[in-house]
Amino acid sequence: MPTVSLDSRSIAVPKILCIGRNYAEHAKEMKAEIPSAPVFFLKPSTALVADGGVVRIPSISNDMHHEVELTVLVGTGGSHIPESEARKHIAGFGVGLDMTLRDVQAEAKKKGLPWALAKGFDTSAPVSSFVAADRVPKVASLSLELLVNGQVRQRGSLADLIFPVEQLIAYLSRFVTLEAGDIIYTGTPEGVARVIPGETMEAKLLGGTSTLTRVTVSVQ
Ligand code: MG
Repeated sequence: MPTVSLDSRSIAVPKILCIGRNYAEHAKEMKAEIPSAPVFFLKPSTALVADGGVVRIPSISNDMHHEVELTVLVGTGGSHIPESEARKHIAGFGVGLDMTLRDVQAEAKKKGLPWALAKGFDTSAPVSSFVAADRVPKVASLSLELLVNGQVRQRGSLADLIFPVEQLIAYLSRFVTLEAGDIIYTGTPEGVARVIPGETMEAKLLGGTSTLTRVTVSVQ
């Protein structure tokens, strides 16, 4: 099973749960409505790429986009987790890229088909190492940054999440049992755009001005 690291431990990842349209400004740029409940989809854990890895654009796409997101590592699994208990189920926080084949996704949306191919292809989930949750005081005080070839492309504050992390855990666990090692991608701020072969993406999770963790990957 693919793994991620938390401090220096290696953790097996059963599945990746993803949330779409969790920032109002991103919903707007996608010309999508602001959702009344979280928009949920899955990626296989085989999509993971660690720091220093490579993202490969499948030949069916000419428009692969970056989406920088806060990632949450589940520590203790469970189902029907109350929002008030959610924080206890979090092992750590990280930063990830929800790589998206925008042209394939647009076609699927048009036909009313699932997003799985547009979102779940091999290498579609770069992720940083995780910072232990007890070293991250308040999620709303964190921010995200994505640089492509050293230029800032996306910036977002976790205070702007439409559905905060605790609410996502409560919602998702009503329908899908969370397991230790699961990763939740929590949605991207505005500024999504295309990347092309040869470019380098660097995603950061910031606490104030200090980088808590980061992941750097190249595009092929
Ligand atoms: Mg996303």
